[in-house]
This record gives sequence, C-alpha cells and structure tokens, in this order.
Amino acid sequence: MIEKKPIIQDLEALSPIGALPGGGVTRLAFSSVEAELHRLVARWLAQLGGKIRKDALGNLIARWPGQDDSLPAVATGSHLDSVPQGGKFDGVVGVVAALAAMRAIRKMGSLTRHPLEVIVFVGEESSRFGVATLGSKVMSGSANIEQYLQLRDAAGITLRDAAKESGANLAEIESAIRQPGELKAFLEVHIEQGRVLEEEAAKIGVVTAIAAPTRRQITIEGRADHSGATPMALRRDALTAAAELILAVEEYGRREAVHKSVATVGMLSLKPGAMNVIPGQVSLGVDVRGIDFASIQRVVAGIDDKLQKICQQRHVSAKTQQLSADKPVQLDSTVIASIEAACQKLSLPYRLMPSGAGHDAMNMAKITPTGLIFIPCKDGISHNPREEATVEDIVLGAEVLLHTILDLAK
Ligand SMILES: [Zn+2]
Repeated sequence: MIEKKPIIQDLEALSPIGALPGGGVTRLAFSSVEAELHRLVARWLAQLGGKIRKDALGNLIARWPGQDDSLPAVATGSHLDSVPQGGKFDGVVGVVAALAAMRAIRKMGSLTRHPLEVIVFVGEESSRFGVATLGSKVMSGSANIEQYLQLRDAAGITLRDAAKESGANLAEIESAIRQPGELKAFLEVHIEQGRVLEEEAAKIGVVTAIAAPTRRQITIEGRADHSGATPMALRRDALTAAAELILAVEEYGRREAVHKSVATVGMLSLKPGAMNVIPGQVSLGVDVRGIDFASIQRVVAGIDDKLQKICQQRHVSAKTQQLSADKPVQLDSTVIASIEAACQKLSLPYRLMPSGAGHDAMNMAKITPTGLIFIPCKDGISHNPREEATVEDIVLGAEVLLHTILDLAK
C-alpha cells in the first residue's frame, strides 16, 4: 500500500529548492539547484536502506539487494531538473513515486527476488544546453558525449565545465554505461503533460511508444547594414530569411500531421538587434518530432530543401548543427502488459497511449525492457509554473508502479 502522507512531505521538502517568487521553479541541468535536489533525495534513499552511488556523469543510483543478487535489477526513476520557470511535478512525480514504492516494499519486510534500483537522472531538460535526457543517453550508451561536452549555455559555460562543477568524473564517463544483463526492466512514472487522460477521465496512461525529437540549430548569416541607407534591393536580411523558413517548418509539420509528426521553431535570436540595423545573423532552434521516424525525416528534408532555396534567393548563407536525431521508441509489450494488469487489479480506468514528449524512459528502452506510466496533470499544463498534479493521482501512479515492480521483480 502506498502511503499518502510521506508523498506530501517529500513534495513539500523539495518545493522550496529552486522556487521562484512568483511560483514555479527553475532547476537547470547541472546547476547547484539540481545538485541540492539530488543530495536531498540521496539522503532519503539511503534512509530507506538503498546503497547509494553516483555514476561518472552524476546520475544518482540507489540499490537494494534481491533474494538472488546475481539477477538483473528492476529499476525505476525519473529526473529532478526543470525548464526555466517550470513546474514542480515534471520529473519530480517519478522520483517521489519511486520513493513511495520503495517505502512500501521496505514495509513488506521481505526482499524481492530481483534486486531493485531507483535512478535519478541528471540533465533531462534541454533548456540549458540544447540536448535532452543527457543522463539516460549516457547511461544507455547512446550519447555522443564528446560533441555534447562542447555545447554552451546562454552564459557561455560549456557542458563540460558545468558537469565537472557538479562533480562529474568525465575521464571515466564510459563507466556510466550500463552493461547488458544489469537491468531486467526500467519503469518511469511521469505527468502526462497533455490533456488526454483528463478528457477521457482515465487515471493512468500506459505508454506504448515515445515520440522522439530531431533537433537542429540553424544559423542564418546575412549582412547587418544601416536600415535607412540600404535600399530594399541590396539587403541580405537574415531575419526575413528566417521568417520564410519558420513558415516552411510549420507547413512541413502540417503535411505530416496525419502521421502524428509536429514541427516547431521555439527559439530565435538575432544580431545585432537594433531598430536601425538590418538583422545580420539569426539563430533558430527547430524541433521536429513524432512516432514515425520516416515521417520526421521527410519534414527535416523538406526544411533543408527550403533553407537552400531561401539562401539562394536571398543571398544569405546558413549553417545547420544537428543536436539530436532520436528514433521514436516502441515500449516493451511484456512490461506494458504488467502495467495493464496492475491497473486492472486496482480497478483503475486506464488507456494505452503514445507519448508526444521525450523521456528518460526512451533511452533506457534501448538497453532494457521499459515501461512508462502517465498520471493526469491539470489542464495538461506543463513546463509552466501552473503545472499541477494531485497527490491522489500521484498515489495512484505510485500504486501502479509498486504492483508492476513487484510483478517484474518476483
Ligand atoms: Zn520530465
């Protein structure tokens, strides 16, 4: 049985860390705030009898022995970092649910047959360095780590320096990769970040596939000239070129909507940024995602093609840096069946659904059978200070997690 009170206490203890005066939290990847959250949760996991370690990147791993400790472990967890001005539930819910499940298992007093692990990933959000789910990418051996370490945040700090500052041991980074046979399964509880569950009055979403993003940073170089002295015909305006490209991103996204692909420009910066200067350089972030990789590739190819044409027509040049090209992930049918069985046993209304957002679970799915359990969040609002999930729903998510862990670890 999952207890409600300790969940409330955990949420209350975490809530002031990185909290903003106007509500919400900023808990950036590899910041001192993220480190403080990890320290607190590590203490709680140790109090629950977990053997604590940090891997070379800084992922927190707590382990409990099984009756047969040579068997692969059943693991669960999520992340504690957030977007700037984010909410208090994205990631946190999965960590708090994992703690609640371990608390319940400990109260039962006997070891599960398989060992158990709680994993708290570092750097899940891409807001700071442009790369998402870094901790689980490294753990699953799917990170292009040397390339990532050179990425810089808005203040010019490299990921390498930020990770070192947080205590990462980058010389030993390979040791953070989990080997085949170490894990039997991975489970993550997460808020849905959408409105499907709420609209269908379902309490649990059993995720079948996770959409994956292809992300690119495109920098268009034109020429910064005097806005008064430069006739229209002589301009090489990087911003008007970017404007055309942004509309093309939307257009190609729409064309692939039947395959559930979406395309977004969510980041834009221009230089020099003055009223009387024609923009000379524009940098934009393009995010294309879906559950059908071929469809994602068609969108990206269309955007590439359009960019070339814009460059020719407008006499500007462009550089494209690929930040990620993750493949959509199908989750494990055995784990899905186990989660469904837990919902049925608890008489919870649930539905099978894809996840539009990326999660650490998608990387873990590359190395172990993986399941993702959604709980509703109010009005589907996420990455926003108004993000909210009820304690009752977190309890239900933790209950489903507990049953699934016990099933898989028996
Ligand atoms: Zn998250």
